[in-house]
Amino acid sequence: MDAPPPFAVHLVTGGASSPELALLLRSLAAARVVALDAEWKPRRRGPGGDAPNSPPPATAAAPPPPPAPQFPTVTLLQVACRGDGAGEGGAAAAAEVFVVDLLAVPLADLWESLRELFERPDVLKLGFRFKQDLVYLSATFAAALGRGAGFVRVEPFLDVTNVYYYLKGHDLQKRLPRETKSLATICDELLGVSLSKELQCSDWSCRPLSKGQIQYAASDAYYLLDIFDLFHQKIRIEGKCLPTNELTSDGHFAPRDIEDAICSDSYLASIVVKYSEKISLTESDTKPHSSRRKGKQKFDANAKCKEKFEGSTKWQGPPPWDLSSGGDGCPKFLCDVMIEGLAKHLRCVGIDAATPSSRKPEPRELLNQTYKERRILLTRDVKLLKYQYLASNQVYRVKSLLKHDQLAEVIDTFQLKISEDQLMSRCTKCNGRFIQKPLTLDEAIEASKGFQIIPSCLFNRNLEFWKCTDCNQLYWEGTQYHNAVQKFLSLCNISD
Ligand SMILES: [Zn+2]
Repeated sequence: MDAPPPFAVHLVTGGASSPELALLLRSLAAARVVALDAEWKPRRRGPGGDAPNSPPPATAAAPPPPPAPQFPTVTLLQVACRGDGAGEGGAAAAAEVFVVDLLAVPLADLWESLRELFERPDVLKLGFRFKQDLVYLSATFAAALGRGAGFVRVEPFLDVTNVYYYLKGHDLQKRLPRETKSLATICDELLGVSLSKELQCSDWSCRPLSKGQIQYAASDAYYLLDIFDLFHQKIRIEGKCLPTNELTSDGHFAPRDIEDAICSDSYLASIVVKYSEKISLTESDTKPHSSRRKGKQKFDANAKCKEKFEGSTKWQGPPPWDLSSGGDGCPKFLCDVMIEGLAKHLRCVGIDAATPSSRKPEPRELLNQTYKERRILLTRDVKLLKYQYLASNQVYRVKSLLKHDQLAEVIDTFQLKISEDQLMSRCTKCNGRFIQKPLTLDEAIEASKGFQIIPSCLFNRNLEFWKCTDCNQLYWEGTQYHNAVQKFLSLCNISD
């Protein structure tokens, strides 16, 4: 063997009461970045090969019936976690590396923690083409614990292939080369580390595992973290995507939660926001491909696609702000740039309607802002519906073309109850609220100095002024105001 790898491995073979499993669960709970890999028993076909997942042939009895196609059983899960400490200073916290023997650990003791880890928004998951691992892992848990015990998604997720291309100078927003590099090649090129090729294909269902197998398996996860560190450093050195300003140019809706969640490391937060993705398994991912006839499969896939697409234009609740799903009961929307007029109209009737933080937002930014602020994304762009990042109750395609109709459509679709005192209760410019008490003319003149000009014709008209608490814009009841109120009263079906 070569020089010993630069990490110690915890082999986890016990159940809930074992110290190794307890340590694994503690490390996962404290982790900010977790690298994942899985090994399964290789499937051999043809003479002499084992049928997938069949028990070892004990005697030369009658040939068993052909087994139903199944996914390989995952026998080993490798986890490398890094917790807090990889902060702005640069020094990375030590990694904890675990090799979890799924043939020995009761899967029921692991399932919940694993599922939570996969879905925790404050932990970045790293993997190398991990979707296949997830499919097999999900099938393995479902086979042991019942259908509901699969895994549905991993998010936020970062594929090390993308990191590799970034480090090689590719623009990740553009189309990446189609050639596929093996993890061994990536490790060799980026870290100068060579991973054993012969162990890669060893029998991962054999017990006991050799020391070499354990080290090899652990290194697959460990080096993912190492590669991520290079990426993290590069992002930091380049000072690129220094995120928070960029994201909050609006200044109004600071997306603090991801940042707070991922400790003080704003670079990590920005990596999550800018580069992470989501792996989600659909119904068809949970069925082995060989069980479907090719032609039918294609047809079904198309039909499903179409159905999904059309289905998603119909909005299905409850909305994210619904009290039943832990929301605050206050409707919140994010209007895509194409429908900014609708955003202003919604504000006029007192509805919280944000606009994108940047002028030409990437889909990812829109989706992130929607998700983080628990809004519903309103858009006319059908392309935005195809992203699975958002649940179907977080995006709605506005069908009407004119902003009056759009407002009526949104009020109707979301069953918004708008009362008269909500009208003109928000700043149409920035979506901010007004200060509680109207200003007198003198106060308004004072507040407007160097900022906004109050026409002198208003001076002797005994008007009330409101000031936006966010952008300081002043509003008053001009002639336009009463016309607008009338219009919105009828649009919102409020009878006075
Ligand atoms: Zn304002």
